[in-house]
Amino acid sequence: MSRGLPKLLGVIGAGQMGAGIAQAAATAGLQVVLVDRAAEQLERAAAGMRLSLGKLVKRGMLKDEPEAVLQRLQHATDLEALAVADYVVEAVPENEGLKTGIFRQLDALMPPHAVLASNTSSISITRLAAATCRPDRVVGLHFMNPVPLMALIELVRGLQTSDETFEATQRLAVHLGKTTCVSLDRPGFIVNRILMPMINEAFFALMEGVGSAHDIDTGMKLGTNQPMGPLTLADFIGLDTCLSIMRVLHEQLGDSKYRPCPLLVQYVDAGWLGKKSGRGVYTYSSS
Ligand code: NAD
Repeated sequence: MSRGLPKLLGVIGAGQMGAGIAQAAATAGLQVVLVDRAAEQLERAAAGMRLSLGKLVKRGMLKDEPEAVLQRLQHATDLEALAVADYVVEAVPENEGLKTGIFRQLDALMPPHAVLASNTSSISITRLAAATCRPDRVVGLHFMNPVPLMALIELVRGLQTSDETFEATQRLAVHLGKTTCVSLDRPGFIVNRILMPMINEAFFALMEGVGSAHDIDTGMKLGTNQPMGPLTLADFIGLDTCLSIMRVLHEQLGDSKYRPCPLLVQYVDAGWLGKKSGRGVYTYSSS
C-alpha cells in the first residue's frame, strides 16, 4: 500500500456493483484490476462505464478525461490477476458458498498483507473471514447502488477484523469521497436490515392486491419522500439479490416477519430479476 492506499485494487465480479466499484476507484486515481469469470460481463461493464463516465462529464462531476480513468483499469477473467493486488473487494452474487470459495482462493493467492473485503449485503463477515487464514484482514465494505453517485459506504467489522484493516478500509472509503456508517456484523447490517423488510412488504401488498405496482410505488415515493418507490428500487437492486438478503434475515434472525414474500420468490424463479434481466416488477428495454 502507498500512503495507506492500495497500490493495486482488485474487484471481483463485474456486475452492477463490481463495475461501479471499479469505476469509482479508478476515478479516484487508483490502479484497478476488475475480474469476472464471464468475458461478456467484462465487456458489458466496460460499455456501461463509458456511458456512466460520459454522463458524469456532462454533469460536471468528473475531473479527469474518461479515457484517463479507463486507462487505470485492467480486466481479467482469472483470479490469478489478483496475485499482486494488496486490497480486493469481492462483489459476486449474494451466495455464501460462492463467496466463501472465493475467499479461500484469494487467501491462498494474495500476499499476506492484502486485505480481503466483501461487498455483501447481508452475509456474515465473520464467517467469510473464518474461511481464510487471515481473519484479521477481512472486512465488510458495502457500497450502495449506483456506486459512482451514492454517497454512503457501510463498513462492517467482523469479530476478528483488526484495527489496522479497519483503518485502511476507512482511508479507502474517504479517498473514494464517500461518507461511512459503521455496523456490527449482524444479518443485513444496518441498511438492509431496515430496507429489505420494506421491499418485501411492498411485494406482499402487490400480491394481496392492496394496490397496483404503480400505486404502491407512487404512495411510498411521494408519501414518504423517497427518490423512488420500493418496487422500482427492488428492480434496480435485482430481485435475486433482494430474495437472498430476505433469506439470510429469515434464517439467521429466526423471526417469521422476515419470511420472503411468495411473489418475490416466484418472480425470481421465473428469471424476472429486475432491470438487469429486462423484466422484474416492471419491463425494461435494453437501451
Ligand atoms: P450481479 O449479478 O449484477 O453481478 C455479479 C457478477 O459476479 C456477475 O458479473 C458474474 O458473472 C460474476 N461472478 C459470478 N461468479 C463469479 C466467480 N466465481 N468469479 C468471478 N466473477 C463471478 O450482482 P450485483 O448486483 O453486482 O451484486 C454483487 C454483490 O453486491 C452481492 O453480494 C450483492 O448483495 C451486493 N450488493 C448489491 C447491491 C445492488 O443494489 N445490486 C447493492 C449493494 C451490495
